[in-house]
Amino acid sequence: MRHFAVVGSGPAGFYTAEALEKAYGEKARIDILDRYPVPYGLIRFGVAPDHQSLKAVSKRYDKVAESAGVDFIGNVCVGLDVSVAELLEHYDAVILAIGAPNDRKLGIPGEDLPGVIGSAQFVGWYNGHPDFADLDPPLDGTHAAVIGAGNVALDCARILSKTRHEFEGSDIVGHALEALEKSAIRTVTILGRRGPHQIAMTPKELGELGHLEESVPVVDMADFPPVEADAPLEPGLRKSVTLLRGFADFEPNKAKTMVFDFFARPVAIEGDGKAERIIVEKTELDEKGAARGTGETYEVPATLVVTAIGYSTPPMEGVAYDERGTKFLNENGRIADRLYAVGWARRGPTGTIGTNRPDGYEVADQHVATIPAGSAGDRPGAEGLKRLLAERGVMPTDYDDWRKIEQTEVANARAGSPREKFVRHAEWLQAIGR
Ligand code: NAP
Repeated sequence: MRHFAVVGSGPAGFYTAEALEKAYGEKARIDILDRYPVPYGLIRFGVAPDHQSLKAVSKRYDKVAESAGVDFIGNVCVGLDVSVAELLEHYDAVILAIGAPNDRKLGIPGEDLPGVIGSAQFVGWYNGHPDFADLDPPLDGTHAAVIGAGNVALDCARILSKTRHEFEGSDIVGHALEALEKSAIRTVTILGRRGPHQIAMTPKELGELGHLEESVPVVDMADFPPVEADAPLEPGLRKSVTLLRGFADFEPNKAKTMVFDFFARPVAIEGDGKAERIIVEKTELDEKGAARGTGETYEVPATLVVTAIGYSTPPMEGVAYDERGTKFLNENGRIADRLYAVGWARRGPTGTIGTNRPDGYEVADQHVATIPAGSAGDRPGAEGLKRLLAERGVMPTDYDDWRKIEQTEVANARAGSPREKFVRHAEWLQAIGR
C-alpha cells in the first residue's frame, strides 16, 4: 500500500488527491491534511461569497473526499503540529498544496498605517476566515481605494459597493453583512499602475459592475488608447477592455461610484495616525511595458485602502523556497525526493480554480513514473501520523466532523443564504462536541 499526504484541502489539494486515486486505485491511501476542521481552502475563504456558482466546485471535491482511498484529516497544522520531515517519514510522498495565503507588500511609506489592509485579510474577513474575524475594517469614511488591477481588486471593490439586497443568496458572513450595510463609503477608487490594456480583470467579473444597484463604474477615456489598438488584444482581454470603454457611457446617477484610475502608482499612504490619502504618481509605459513614473503626483482620498497586488506562499521549515517567486523552489512540481508542490505553492498566485487540476495529475504521473514496478511501500501513513499527533495532544478531525459542521452552518443560515459560516476555530470544534 502507498501512503500519500496532501497538505492543504483547497482546489490544488483536491485535484491532486483525485489524480492519485485514479493513478493508484486500491493500492493507495491518500490523506488530505488541513490546519482547519473545514475543507476547501480558497473555495471557502477566497472565492467571493456572491459567486456561489464558482463555490459549487466543492461538490466535486466532496466526491473525492467520500471515495474509498481518500481521508480528510483536519485540525492539523503542518509546520506546527508535525513537520514536513516527519510527514516524509510516515508517507511515501508528501504534496504541498498550501496555496498562497499571505499578502504581498507594496513597500511604500505609510503601508502599515491603520486602515491599510491586504486583500487576504479583507477577503478573509467577509468570507469568515478565523484569523480575520476581528479585522473590523474602517467603513466610516466616504472614500476607499483598492490597489491593483486584477480580479481580487474587483472582488474587493464590488463587495464594498453592494447593497444588503444584492448579497441575497450569498454566504457572506453576518458580521461583514451588518458592517457593510452601515458603511459610509460612497467612492471606491481602483488604482491600476498600468493602463486598460494591461489589466488582469476578466470579462464576467467586469460585466457585473454594469448592473450594481447603487454604484456606477467610472472611467476616464483619456486613459485609453484609440479603439483600433484593441484589435490585436487576446480575445478575453479585448472583451474586458471593451466593457471598460462602455463604462464611459454610464450616467453617474447612483449613490456610489467605482472609479477606475489607470497609470496610477501609489508612492505613499499618508494620514494622521491612520490612512487618509494615497499619494499617487502618474505613470506611463516604458519600452518593456512596465510602469514608469512621470514625476507628476496627486492625492486620492481613502480612509480604507485595500491592497490587492497578489499573494505569497509562506516558507516552511526544511523546504526549499524561491525568495523571488515567494513560492516553493520546484522543478515541474518536484521539490525534492518524494516531496512535491502543486497549485499556487508551485506556480505562484495566478490562474483560475481549474488551472490547478493539471498540476495534481502531473505530480501523480511523476510519482508513478519513479516507483519501481513491484515495490511495496512500508510506511505507516495515517496510522503512524495519528499516533504521533496523539502523543502531542493534537486531536485531528475527519470528514464526518466536517459534515456535522456543515449541517450546523446550513441550519444557521439566514433566509435566502446557503449557510452562516462559523468564524472561530472554537465554534467549529464546539459544533462537533469538542
Ligand atoms: P493578479 O491577477 O496577478 O493581479 C494583481 C494586480 O496587482 C495587477 O494588476 C498588478 O499590476 C498589480 N500590482 C502588483 N504589484 C503592484 C504594486 N507594487 N503596485 C501596484 N499594483 C501592483 O492577482 P489577483 O488579483 O490577486 O488574482 C490572483 C489570481 O486569482 C488571478 O489569476 C485571478 O484571475 C484569480 N481570481 C479569479 C477570480 C474569478 O475568476 N472570479 C476572482 C479572484 C481571483 P501589474 O500587472 O502591473 O503587475
